Amino acid sequence: MTPDELKRDFIQQVAESGWLRLSVRLIIWSGQEPQSRWQLVGVFPTGIDTEEVQEAINAILHDPRYFGVCTECNERQPSGWMISDDLCQSCASQHHQVLF
Ligand SMILES: [Zn+2]
Repeated sequence: MTPDELKRDFIQQVAESGWLRLSVRLIIWSGQEPQSRWQLVGVFPTGIDTEEVQEAINAILHDPRYFGVCTECNERQPSGWMISDDLCQSCASQHHQVLF
């Protein structure tokens, strides 16, 4: 996914009571169906420089706890969609006959 898609679908900013909360969507596998859960990763006073927020978001996108880069398609994916540190699920099923 592109950084913009990841930011749109996996990063959430909520302004509430004078604070800006930054959350990341985690994909959790339990049984067959993936579930997603928002995890709070940062809190800033509202009115903070948007550049600082963007920097924090970029740091999250590069945090291996949340996202990984597939060496086959070179796409950054949520870590819940990676089957290992460097292989995403779609490449695994397309090129390696791994079935989900
Ligand atoms: Zn891939």
